[in-house]
Amino acid sequence: MRTFCGRANPTTGAMEWLEEDESYDYHQEIARSRYADMLHDKDRNVKYYQGIRAAVIRVKERGEKAIVLDIGTGTGLLSMMAASAGADFCYAVEVFKPMANAAVKIVEKNGFSDKIKVINKHSTEVTVGPDGDMQCRANILVTELFDTELIGEGALPTYEHAHKHLVQEGCEAVPHRATVYVQLVESRRMWSWNKLFPVRVEAEDGEKIIVSPSEMENCPGVPSVCDIQLNQMPSSDFTILSDVVTMFSVDFSKPVISASTCYRVQLETIKSGKAQIVLSWWDIDMDPSGKINCTMAPYWVKPTSALQWRDHWMQCVYFLPKEEPVFQGEKVYLTACRDEYSLWYKLQKAREEENKADGRVESPVCRCQAHLLWNRPRFGELNDQNRTCQYIKSLMKVLKTDSVCLCISDGSLLPVLAHYLGAKQFLKANHLEDKIKILEARPESVTSSHLEDNKISVLLGEPFFTTSLLPWHNLYFWYARTAVTMHLASDVTVLPQSASLHVMIVEFQDLWRIRSPCGTCEGFDVRTMDDMIKNSLNFRESKEAEPHPLWEYPCKSLSDPQEVLTFDFRRTVPEHCLSAEGSLNLLRKGKSHGAVLWMEYHLTADISVNTGLTQITNDKGNCEWNPHCKQAVYFFSSVIDSETPTDIPSAVTYAINFNPKTGEIIMDFKL
Ligand code: SAH
Repeated sequence: MRTFCGRANPTTGAMEWLEEDESYDYHQEIARSRYADMLHDKDRNVKYYQGIRAAVIRVKERGEKAIVLDIGTGTGLLSMMAASAGADFCYAVEVFKPMANAAVKIVEKNGFSDKIKVINKHSTEVTVGPDGDMQCRANILVTELFDTELIGEGALPTYEHAHKHLVQEGCEAVPHRATVYVQLVESRRMWSWNKLFPVRVEAEDGEKIIVSPSEMENCPGVPSVCDIQLNQMPSSDFTILSDVVTMFSVDFSKPVISASTCYRVQLETIKSGKAQIVLSWWDIDMDPSGKINCTMAPYWVKPTSALQWRDHWMQCVYFLPKEEPVFQGEKVYLTACRDEYSLWYKLQKAREEENKADGRVESPVCRCQAHLLWNRPRFGELNDQNRTCQYIKSLMKVLKTDSVCLCISDGSLLPVLAHYLGAKQFLKANHLEDKIKILEARPESVTSSHLEDNKISVLLGEPFFTTSLLPWHNLYFWYARTAVTMHLASDVTVLPQSASLHVMIVEFQDLWRIRSPCGTCEGFDVRTMDDMIKNSLNFRESKEAEPHPLWEYPCKSLSDPQEVLTFDFRRTVPEHCLSAEGSLNLLRKGKSHGAVLWMEYHLTADISVNTGLTQITNDKGNCEWNPHCKQAVYFFSSVIDSETPTDIPSAVTYAINFNPKTGEIIMDFKL
């Protein structure tokens, strides 16, 4: 068996696939998996347990044996719930081998080996019959195959197959049904993740506005869902245009059809505005009565006291193919279309609708390329006028009329800005073809003829590269700068001139759950899972940070932020490692869950852009983060709680090391 793992290589700016050997055993997948988060999801677990108990009782009341099929058993949790609730036998199906192995151990440890059979197969490969995986069809179907979009993990085809081949007619399903809800909103903030807004440039000869090409204006974008922690979106950032309505439901106790289909609802708008976005979430009813309900509804729909934090299920943001003005009290039709794995939306005015016999809508296809090049946060970043201003100000400082600029960044607007600000040399909608030249060459293969024998007087980068996962992966700019050294004028200006890495110790409100051991879950011992995650986290002693967009994950600072390393782009990448050792004093009470790291780019001596902490908003230490960037989070393997009176550590020591050979940053923290 060969396993390939993807990784960003900051020295080449490329994604690479590394082949792992037998001993690898999917450590990265396990370490970064959502199993811990699911086991910490109390609301989900309690409701599944209630629903499973009720289903077992209903089957027993009919005088039947309760035979359970649990598809995607993971840790075996739902099967153990069924066995405890009195099920006669459970078939626990799990396709992911390391998890199936874990399920066998966990089931055994909890004393259910005689009641639960773990089958390491995809459910569509499971056989039924005297010699089959299952002796007979099941009469209770338990699953948890949902993602934030409900169907993205393939729940529909799995159910379709299970009803045809693995369960009895009239079986009880837990959950019994799922319902998808939608609400129409206007939001400049969220729309800025999908469209490029005009960019204002104050040049010496007056204000200029960079507009996006019309292909981009009219482009429906890409169909992939945008899933976010909608509870972190303040109500001031969007305007509600309709009530919450039910878009569609799926009854899991009846045959399910996965083939593509559309659903249409009529909405009456409650406010005038620009219909831009459909916010969506779902709930599941664990039993037919609908009394055991688990919902992803956001804070303005349900009381905040009832909110369960979870990261494995969030909420969805769908961008309408184009924005549509609506008036209060107007009736509009919203169509949701889906294939087996994804959903997309279209809004139609009532009068247009009359002409259309069937409301089928094609899946959106990006025609302008921008939605393929820029992801949603990147659109947001490019639309951040404050950020753009920093680049404009710094460009104005460094550019001269005869500047020859080379920009190294993916999908950047810097060349256009530089041109408007008067650079001599450097796209279509802005009629700049003759001024800006796009070099289809990697930095190391740029030749003098590419540059028409000019020496570069200003080397620019945001820097931004689509392959970057962690903040320091954009240091590829430094490698690229090194590769083009021979083309640089002796008095070249490099912008940004340097970058710095910053670190701070934090207590997370909730994010700690995704990496925290569980111990027991609803009375079942799941420590085997905890150990497995821990083992994977420690695989090859990998001291790795992981990327998270922290605007979605509230935390408070326990230390001051500290600058730990600087990278001088005016010089080439050094041969030797850059390292920093020091300590961070703990200033506030709290649990030190981990360290957050981010980069700051120093465009000029006095102008910087910050991709991490933007401010600490109050004396409790609540943090505000750059909303367009992911920060690096290094979770500590043990948490120190400085609220406990004994043994309060006053500082966390760190050792951080940048290896120029690999472009990676290795770190270690001691509590
Ligand atoms: N039931 C567990 C785990 C849910 S995660 C719990 O509730 O805690 C979903 C699991 O289903 C994953 O482990 C995934 O590998 C598995 N899975 C998804 N589709 C499957 C299918 N069709 N057949 C078998 N396993 C599947």
